[in-house]
Amino acid sequence: MKISSLLLFVLSFGSITAPLSNLSAQETKKLIVCSTTQTADFARNIVGDDMVVKSILPEGADPHTYEVRPGDARLVASADLCIENGWHLEGKDWMKQLCLDSGKKCVTAVTGIEPLKLVEEGTTVYDPHAWFTPKNGATYVRNITNAIVDIDPANQEKYESRARLYLIQLRDLDTWIRQEVNNIPANKRILITNHDAFGYFCQEYGFQSASPVGWSTGDEIGAGMSNAKRKEVIDSIKAYNVKAIFMETSVNPKTMQELATEAGVKVGGSLYSDSMGAPGSAGESYIGMMRENVIKIVTSLK
Ligand SMILES: [Zn+2]
Repeated sequence: MKISSLLLFVLSFGSITAPLSNLSAQETKKLIVCSTTQTADFARNIVGDDMVVKSILPEGADPHTYEVRPGDARLVASADLCIENGWHLEGKDWMKQLCLDSGKKCVTAVTGIEPLKLVEEGTTVYDPHAWFTPKNGATYVRNITNAIVDIDPANQEKYESRARLYLIQLRDLDTWIRQEVNNIPANKRILITNHDAFGYFCQEYGFQSASPVGWSTGDEIGAGMSNAKRKEVIDSIKAYNVKAIFMETSVNPKTMQELATEAGVKVGGSLYSDSMGAPGSAGESYIGMMRENVIKIVTSLK
């Protein structure tokens, strides 16, 4: 390690060591435990520094296939409020189960949203990727705000005030997306991604969506894709006559890259799908991930 980087390390370590008084304040704050990075971001925008918010899924993780760790059970057991996305985004309902195991109530953030329905192996299921329109995001925010007010009614005004500001930002985000997407001719609005996380986005903004896998990454492409299925996928990509297809940050990109090469199209980059980006990245917040996705989609397809 060079001296300069050593110094940087010491400095940054020093800066994250909070004084004892802050630590005890932290301990007395209520704890919100969310299953996903998006629900945690919504909650943070509502509580500010008044509560601590943690996400069980780290950035980049896949909620469909996530395996809970012992630390997750301890975190949920110490929570004052638990929030899940719902509609089985959390594979085998792992968040509900963690809450059940520790006797905690689990608030479902998608409650009240008009679901997109998908047919999976003959059964109709609700598409859980509902956060992909700011309009639905606003319903998440209202549900989460109500749940927060329930556990701390004394500070209701503060939470509702922050929520109002954030809802304005979501409305602006929606207006901006409509303007940007208008740069893509209607017949070029075709979004091909690893798994169909973008159904709500596509419906809201006039895209056709296509995906080589089902609604869950549980049956991930590559893992057991037959040659016949592979040919079908490549033919369908060609038939759509798109300039680019997209990868998702929470899904293994290898197969998508191969399919693009075989179909003779570009990969338009990685979209944030089931997870936001790492702290410090452009996609570290919900608004940031939506903005970056739209910019990638528009520049690749227009
Ligand atoms: Zn997904």
